[in-house]
Amino acid sequence: MRALRRGTNLSRVAGFNEAVVIDAIRRARDGLSRVEISGQTGLSAQTVSNIVRRMLESGLLQEGDRVTQGLGKPRTPLTLHPDGRYAVGVHLDPLMVTIVLVNLRGEVAAHVQRPSPASAEPSEVVADIAAQVPLLLERAGVGIDLVAGLGFASPGPINTEHGTVLDPPHLPHWRYVPVADELAERLGLPVVLDKDVVAAAVGERWTGATLGQANSLFLYLSTGIGAGVAVDDTILRGSTGNAGDIGHLIVDARGPACHCGQQGCIGVTLSPAALVESAVAARVLGGAHLDAVRSADPARVDSSFAALCELVDAGDAGAVGVVDASAVQLAKAITTLANMFDTDVVAVGGPTWMRLGKVYLPRLDDLVQPGLVHRPGTKPVSVVGTALGEDVIAVGAACLVLDHEFAPAVSSIALAH
Ligand SMILES: [Zn+2]
Repeated sequence: MRALRRGTNLSRVAGFNEAVVIDAIRRARDGLSRVEISGQTGLSAQTVSNIVRRMLESGLLQEGDRVTQGLGKPRTPLTLHPDGRYAVGVHLDPLMVTIVLVNLRGEVAAHVQRPSPASAEPSEVVADIAAQVPLLLERAGVGIDLVAGLGFASPGPINTEHGTVLDPPHLPHWRYVPVADELAERLGLPVVLDKDVVAAAVGERWTGATLGQANSLFLYLSTGIGAGVAVDDTILRGSTGNAGDIGHLIVDARGPACHCGQQGCIGVTLSPAALVESAVAARVLGGAHLDAVRSADPARVDSSFAALCELVDAGDAGAVGVVDASAVQLAKAITTLANMFDTDVVAVGGPTWMRLGKVYLPRLDDLVQPGLVHRPGTKPVSVVGTALGEDVIAVGAACLVLDHEFAPAVSSIALAH
């Protein structure tokens, strides 16, 4: 069970049938008429009509203009009202803290980036986040009564049951920090904590590249590499909420040594530091960059990686060659995971992808398809870039709240009345 800390104004707005209706409308992007909702959900016309009326009154839905198509009866599409509900998303990352305010459609209404939390005391970072939230709301002109809650996305390991960040890498002061309780107390909002890749996968499914996809993967490429997995419309969290740690998946039998004792784990083969090391070995970057990436200081590693990316942007053939070669290893990971989970769509994001995706993406289709097994017929796996950009995890964190409030979960049947 995920921890959702109850604040002062928690109310699960949607019962099960309401959530089913919202889910159908959200997936349609262009909206659905009452008749279409009834057809897709199996709910009776009367039930749909009652639910829609209540949701129009409460501002969760809006009605479009009547459209006549061909000889059919005119239809009036219903869409989610963007201002019907909001959620705050926080992404804790060693390089920075990102906070966003997202509307019911998952669109970013306000955004702020705060300095690296790596050297600060967690209590200071939590206090800063709590201070930023009212400012974001003010900037967007949104009242706190419209905010369903705050989603907090952190690198693992975390304890989702207690809402505690345990001891993630590169965040030396973050040991057993009860972020959910502390933020809920300061803000009076319900707070949900999830792992960063889980949040991203939820966000892409709520509003992004894997919307409406029952079987999808989200691959996050950053200092660490992780995957968020959805199977049969369910996000896999695992026993402790820490599923998705793929850092030791071997993608290159002759790759660099990993501290785990293996060679060519994806974490050490495709990390920014490893790409910089490859670039130094190929004489694309000077040897001074080796000291930087071996310092394990995230900021120094990032600046050396930025130097490589600048060369790629400038079209430097050697730099592009280094990245191009690593596409083979990225494809290997995607193929293995897609085979394991029988996935239809793989979305890739994260800082490494934002900088190098334009090199990777055109290569991946050709590299991934030949390795796929168990794909009867011609249904290929499609590989796409994130639709949520740099803020994918922060947006995903906010979507955790929307998903909790409005997605039809089996557990909500018990809550419905
Ligand atoms: Zn390893």
